Amino acid sequence: MKNEKSPYNIRIGVVPVGEVPEIAPKVVAAHFVGYLNLSTDIFPPLELPGYAFDKRRSQYDAGLIIKSFESMQFDNCDKVIGILDVDLFVPLFTHVFGEARLGGKCALISLFRMEKNPERAAKTALHEFGHLCDLQHCTDKNCLMHFSKGLEELDSIPLCFCRYCSAYLRDAFCRLSL
Ligand SMILES: [Zn+2]
Ligand SMILES: [Zn+2]
Repeated sequence: MKNEKSPYNIRIGVVPVGEVPEIAPKVVAAHFVGYLNLSTDIFPPLELPGYAFDKRRSQYDAGLIIKSFESMQFDNCDKVIGILDVDLFVPLFTHVFGEARLGGKCALISLFRMEKNPERAAKTALHEFGHLCDLQHCTDKNCLMHFSKGLEELDSIPLCFCRYCSAYLRDAFCRLSL
């Protein structure tokens, strides 16, 4: 989706990984276009990376997948959101809805623990994208950068960044657009 009106020259790649409901990448991409005014590309699905499967936990290691995706090009997209429908973990947590490295290029989100709800996926994608743009967790419970421990908390967060995080995001967009 090219966004002619966007003042920023930023492209977001949305990449399904493994079997993912077709609607999910579309809804996630639509939120980047509609809410953040950015252009998006939806990529053909990638295979689920077997190397990241932890047999003992029966979960996929989000950090390992991110590490390998960060070395890939994705057609020169500035930031990349991988969407999976398998259980993801990072060390110290039993599971995660999403994961991103602060200031990194690629984030992952998983539909697995969100009842395959694409709007929850979109919220999580915007949150992880915030991390990719150097935003940390926000204490404001009405901000997308607030950390949610469970679905109830995720659902109670409105679909917007607080004034502080919005301003920070705009700065990041200007830096990325250079
Ligand atoms: Zn977070
Ligand atoms: Zn905030």
